[in-house]
Amino acid sequence: MEEKTSNRRFISLKLKWAFGTAVGSLIIFFIVAMAMFSSFTQSLFNQERDLLNQGMTNISRQLGRINQPLTKKNISNVIDPDDGQVAVGSQYQRPIIQELSDGHLIVNIYDRKHQPILSTGKSITKPTFTNQRRVRMMRGAAHKVIVGQQPIYSQRGHRRIGYLQVENKLNVYYRNYNQLRIVVILAMCLVVLASGLLGYFLSLLFLRPLGEIHDTVKVISKDPTKNVRVPVPNHNDELAELTTMFNEMLDRMQRYIDQQSQFVSDVSHELRTPIAIIQGHLDMLERWGKDDPEVLNDSIKASLIETKRMKNLVQEMLDLSRAEQVDINFRNQRTVVNDVVHQVFNNFKMLYPDFHFTLDDDLDEPITANIYRDHLEQVLVILCDNAVKYSTERKEVHISLSRGMNTVEIGIQDFGEGIPATDIDKVFDRFYRVDKARSRKKGGNGLGLSIAKRLIEGYHGSITLESSLGAGSLFRIILPIVEDPEAL
Ligand code: ADP
Repeated sequence: MEEKTSNRRFISLKLKWAFGTAVGSLIIFFIVAMAMFSSFTQSLFNQERDLLNQGMTNISRQLGRINQPLTKKNISNVIDPDDGQVAVGSQYQRPIIQELSDGHLIVNIYDRKHQPILSTGKSITKPTFTNQRRVRMMRGAAHKVIVGQQPIYSQRGHRRIGYLQVENKLNVYYRNYNQLRIVVILAMCLVVLASGLLGYFLSLLFLRPLGEIHDTVKVISKDPTKNVRVPVPNHNDELAELTTMFNEMLDRMQRYIDQQSQFVSDVSHELRTPIAIIQGHLDMLERWGKDDPEVLNDSIKASLIETKRMKNLVQEMLDLSRAEQVDINFRNQRTVVNDVVHQVFNNFKMLYPDFHFTLDDDLDEPITANIYRDHLEQVLVILCDNAVKYSTERKEVHISLSRGMNTVEIGIQDFGEGIPATDIDKVFDRFYRVDKARSRKKGGNGLGLSIAKRLIEGYHGSITLESSLGAGSLFRIILPIVEDPEAL
């Protein structure tokens, strides 16, 4: 992307997406892994503590059976009985020799005077001789250890006969803990890498249409007349919608550009004739007509006619461009249609006494439409003007007013020259005249019907035409009715 609008650094969406998915899955994985890790290691730790507690209970109970102060001799009898029988307190108890030889535990037994009498390994912590059983976590050389201390009581008489200290170095626990930690870290790296790559490739796939839009915009911005469009993806999703909308927007833009250049060329073409006529007259006057009052008079008259035509043309072009914005500027205007139609009918009757105007009003109540009064009047004047202009022998104009379901319909019919079927759609185009020369003679610029159509369509109505050559034309305006004129 060479042309950047801001000086902020360009970071590809694909990278952001990949980064987002990687971070997202890292967080989720971290939370899940931490929960599993801590519950697993906690249960491992509980096992180790239970092992120590069981060992202490077992040893103290079995030594308690000696029932006299512990000595090296009497405990060795219990640990390794002469009769070859394994000292078993109950069928659920482990033989004491097993407790002592358990590699996990370091057992230290002391006599009543705190002198060591048996040790299965080097004690990590200093013994403390307490009256109660105490199990604590203590700091060892490499890591923490669990230390259990308790006095040993004789089973009979319940006298203190010695002390016991059992330590669990937690080697197994820490070995498992470390292994699990490595597995979790490796899995985490794998998840981050895999989800990042997945995110990147998915975004590559999904964002392909964006790349195509980008390329199209680039081409269009270089040359707006280029007819390029973005290929619409096969799958129906947001990007396919966006692409379609984007292409439609380009079509519309293209249409506007075409219309604009067409308009400019039409306008210059339309202005060329009156300007040429005025210039011709002025040339003539300059050369030899200045002193000839008749030529002077004719030229001034002709030039005035053309100036008036140009003034009308400019006014009509202004009306046309305003008509395109009625939807924005006159959205909430209300007009009682009956009043305007009656007014225009009366005006025309008065203006053209040689014409026979009839009004067929089927409405039995005032009907309000969402249109600016002056605009409705302007449309009716354009249509009635045309009816008069293009009438031939039969000087009759018939106006009708009726109601549809939710619409009001105004018909303007004449019995004049009519419009050929091939021109019926075209007469609403700008500057279109069926017979250019004849229409010009009648003062027409070919803008009236396009103004009328744009105005009516701007108010969500429609204008249609039925006509046959030599028999006359019927223009029909349909406008939506406003049921509640008070409400805006
Ligand atoms: P103009 O100013 O030339 O009348 P319009 O846009 O009003 O422009 O009309 C376009 C063309 O449609 C006219 O030039 C004329 O040929 C044709 N036309 C419009 N109204 C009628 C009609 N009532 N009868 C016959 N032809 C019509």
